[in-house]
Amino acid sequence: MSAKPSFDLSGRVAVVTGGNGGIGLGMAKGLAATGATVIIAGRNENKAQAALAELRALGASAHFATIDVVDETSCRQTIAQAAERHGRLDILINNAGTTVRKQPQDLSADEWHKVMDTNLTGAFICSQAAYPHMVRAGGGKIINVGSMMSIFAAPYAAPYGASKGGIVQMGRALAIAWAKDNIQVNAILPGWIDTDLTRQARTQVPGLNERVLARTPAQRWGVPDDFAGIAVFLASPASDFVTGTAIPVDGGYSIQA
Ligand code: NDP
Repeated sequence: MSAKPSFDLSGRVAVVTGGNGGIGLGMAKGLAATGATVIIAGRNENKAQAALAELRALGASAHFATIDVVDETSCRQTIAQAAERHGRLDILINNAGTTVRKQPQDLSADEWHKVMDTNLTGAFICSQAAYPHMVRAGGGKIINVGSMMSIFAAPYAAPYGASKGGIVQMGRALAIAWAKDNIQVNAILPGWIDTDLTRQARTQVPGLNERVLARTPAQRWGVPDDFAGIAVFLASPASDFVTGTAIPVDGGYSIQA
C-alpha cells in the first residue's frame, strides 16, 4: 500500500446495471474516464447507444448487455457472459431501480413485488452471480445504490424505502462475508438528483421541487456527473479498506435538521 492513492482502473472490468442513463451513466463515466472496460446492463439497447457513445468518447471500451434484474436467469446469464467475454469481472454497480409512488393502502402486491424485486432482490442475485468471478480476480468492488429513503421515510415510498433500507443491510452482510476474499461492498445514498426518475416525481408530488431546493444546503438538485467521483473511489484500490459503508451524495440534504 503506497501513500499515493491509486484511482487507476486500467484493466478492470465493470458491470453497471441500469447504466444507460441517469445516475448509473454518471458513475459509468467516472469508471470509463479512469480506464475501466464498462458494460452497461439494461433493458433498452436503443437508449444505451447514446450512453455507449459518451463512454467511448472518454476513451473507454464500452459494451451493452441485456438484463432484466427482476429475472433471476437474466441476472445470472448477463453477469456470467460479461465475465466470460471480457476475461474477468472486478466491479459491479447495482444501480437499476424503480418506484411506484402510492399511499400504502393503495398498493397492490404486484406493485410491492416489482419494486422489491428490481431494487433489492436483483441486486442480491447480481452480487451472488459476480462473487465467483471476483474471487477468481483476487478481489472485487460492489457498489449498491441506496437512497435518502434508506434513512428517511415518505408516505408514498413504502416498498421503495423497504428496498433501499434493505440494500444497505444486505450490502453490509455481503461486506462481512466477503471481506476475506478482498471484496469490498459499499452503498451510495443519492440525495435528490435530476434524472428521468425524479422528473416524474416532480409532476406526481406537489411542491417537491421547492422542498428539495429549500432543504438541500448546496441549493441545487444533484446531477448524474456528481456520481463519477464516488464511483471511482469505491471502485478503485484507494478504497481497499472501506467496506460496509453507506455514503450520502446529497449536497448536505441528510445532515440538515
Ligand atoms: P433512471 O430512471 O434514469 O435510472 C433507472 C435505471 O434502472 C434505468 O436505466 C432503468 O432502465 C433501470 N431499470 C429499471 N428497472 C429495471 C429492470 N427490471 N432491469 C434492468 N434495468 C432496470 O433514474 P436514476 O438514475 O435516478 O436511478 C438510478 C438509481 O438511483 C435507482 O436505483 C434509484 O432508485 C436511485 N436513486 C435515484 C435518486 C434520484 O433522485 N434520482 C435518489 C436516490 C436513489 P430502463 O431505461 O430500461 O427503464
